[in-house]
Amino acid sequence: MRVLVITDIHSNLTALETVIKDAGKADAVWCLGDVVGYGPYPNECITLLLEQPNLICLLGNHDAAAIDMLDISTFNPEARKSVEWTHNRLSPESEAFLLERPKIIVQGNVTLSHGSPRHPVFEYILDTRAATENFTHFDTDFCFIGHTHLPVMFYIEDTNYMSRLAIPPINQAIVLKPRVIINPGSVGQPRDRDPRAAYAIFDTVANTWEYRRVEYDVNKVQQDMRSYNLPERHIIRLESGW
Ligand code: ZN
Repeated sequence: MRVLVITDIHSNLTALETVIKDAGKADAVWCLGDVVGYGPYPNECITLLLEQPNLICLLGNHDAAAIDMLDISTFNPEARKSVEWTHNRLSPESEAFLLERPKIIVQGNVTLSHGSPRHPVFEYILDTRAATENFTHFDTDFCFIGHTHLPVMFYIEDTNYMSRLAIPPINQAIVLKPRVIINPGSVGQPRDRDPRAAYAIFDTVANTWEYRRVEYDVNKVQQDMRSYNLPERHIIRLESGW
């Protein structure tokens, strides 16, 4: 099965449309959460996701915030404004969709969650220490995560206790060997100083992972965000990917 693996769309419909087109025909779409937040098209992103084959979509922290499952009093003022804007914009159907999202799922030899297997919605796996600890919190060969918006993988080699970090090559399929925690990078708000949308193609038979980047019309998204008076900081970061 050819699976399109995406995460952290953040209401960026233009980026999502570009990724789906660029990916070509997929047998399934696995979305690791944060469908909404920051961007201007929350409902449209959910509608487009629901049209995808064999969709699995997990709950992200921004999704939880948008449907009031999360206390946002500690968020900074811009983040709060963005959450409130999204909350007010969500259709009843979108709200129902987000409410039903699972926090963690096992699909064949893969565990799927937004942040980490240990704390599925909130934990950031940014370094080898957090990754190493998380290897004891899932039993499958692989674990796919999002949340950090960084396309990185952590793997355990031989009998080493500590995991190692690597960045997969772009447009080149690599064979994943047990065990790996891997992040496809963010569709709608990359934070690795590369503004292109990020995603991956996973082959469930060959266990191959092909990490890809694709340019999308950042300008259009920025214009739409400005027309809705969304926070300027969230607008400018899109063009340089931070
Ligand atoms: Zn996110």
